[in-house]
Amino acid sequence: MIVSKFGGSSVKDASSILNCLAILKENRQRSVVIVSASGKTTNELEIIWNSKEPHSLIKDVFNKHRDLARELGIYHLCQIYMDDLETQAKECLNHRTQNHLRDQLLSFGERLSSFIFYRKAQEVLAPREVIFDHAYELIQTNSFYGEADPLQDETHRNIKKRFEKLAPEALVITQGFLGQNEEKNITTLGREGSDFSASLFASALDSEILEIWTDVDGIYDRDPHRFENAKRLDHLSYEQADTLAKSGMKVLFKRTIEPINKNRTRVFVGQTSDPQKGGTIISSEGNKELKRLGMAIKENITQINIAFNSDVSSNEHGLENIKALLDQCKIHPLFLSYKSVILENNEKISSFVSKLKEFCCPVIFTNQIMINLVGDELLCLKQPLDNVLEEYEKEGKTFEVVEYRKNFIGLITSSAKDHFDCSRLEKLFFGP
Ligand code: ADP
Ligand code: ASP
Ligand code: MG
Repeated sequence: MIVSKFGGSSVKDASSILNCLAILKENRQRSVVIVSASGKTTNELEIIWNSKEPHSLIKDVFNKHRDLARELGIYHLCQIYMDDLETQAKECLNHRTQNHLRDQLLSFGERLSSFIFYRKAQEVLAPREVIFDHAYELIQTNSFYGEADPLQDETHRNIKKRFEKLAPEALVITQGFLGQNEEKNITTLGREGSDFSASLFASALDSEILEIWTDVDGIYDRDPHRFENAKRLDHLSYEQADTLAKSGMKVLFKRTIEPINKNRTRVFVGQTSDPQKGGTIISSEGNKELKRLGMAIKENITQINIAFNSDVSSNEHGLENIKALLDQCKIHPLFLSYKSVILENNEKISSFVSKLKEFCCPVIFTNQIMINLVGDELLCLKQPLDNVLEEYEKEGKTFEVVEYRKNFIGLITSSAKDHFDCSRLEKLFFGP
């Protein structure tokens, strides 16, 4: 069995959706499909949640999807479903004081795109049986809205039970990104989290292959859309892929590898518009020769430097308080030490900061950029890295080393995005 996930760019318009269906048609082993929201719909929904005029904006989102369904010639098969979802979305926007409804609003992106995908798949793949499922009825999570943790045992049980009932030839279309908590409220698994949904399905179903179909033909050692010297990593071990994902490489959600059954499931990352190009294969073998795995750049980072009040007896005690507070505010930090907390910009930061001020004096830097270097035997780079950072400093560009381990270097800078230049770091890490 193969579980296939199609990302936002793979379902951004009618011709992209037809590319996905061509891939499904080619191999009947592909029997579970996880669909992301179309294009940048989740960003749009985030803006709508905070907007003063949400009703006209949400109408635009629905109308955009109606146009997509029309272009695919299946609008008549989607109309009732879309009208019903639109009523639900408007209802949700009428109750924005209830914070948990933010996740429900974000869910409409995946719910719309997956239904359109399903209707077109029924037509293109006939006579194969195609089934539409609500992933949130299967993926059970805690109540960490915005970045919910799946409850793996319950989720596995639900998925297995659901699939026992299906004909072996059936194809199931469902959504990425979505879960549901005990109160039956929709939760989301974190931005970019559809990859994680796909790996939860692959692991529950013990599938042989998990495919992540996207707009690049594999995982590169740096973003190929940004760096012309980027090289594709054809083979990665689970551990290498997990470290790269956790370092913030956009192409793979940070928790994608966690649920994978390493004795069974290989992961493939490839390009929807050109499957012939091949891609990256993640398996137990990997490429042990690779000493410099990759460089990941994460923008929109908030850095909070902490100076404890004198009445806090020790740094350890202070750190425990911060961990408890992060948990209370339901925030997963990217990095945490007794000197600083590094977070992806998100809505929960302001309440975290005001609580933090009760026991320490935080200094906040927003819109920072984090650069993570991942590899092996990196300690030898210490001196050359210091030299490079000194050269940047002379140009008024400050980079701070927040973490230095033998397989990981984490740097943060406040350079404005437009002036951000990491060519020296690139050269230092990968060579000329
Ligand atoms: P999807 O919508 O399919 O989930 P994403 O936008 O999340 O796709 O991920 C694909 C993007 O990740 C690519 O367009 C590419 O610009 C970016 N990217 C960043 N780092 C890498 C990397 N090391 N290798 C490949 N792609 C990368
Ligand atoms: N649609 C969600 C997002 O944009 C999840 C995903 O695409 O992986 O974050
Ligand atoms: Mg993604």
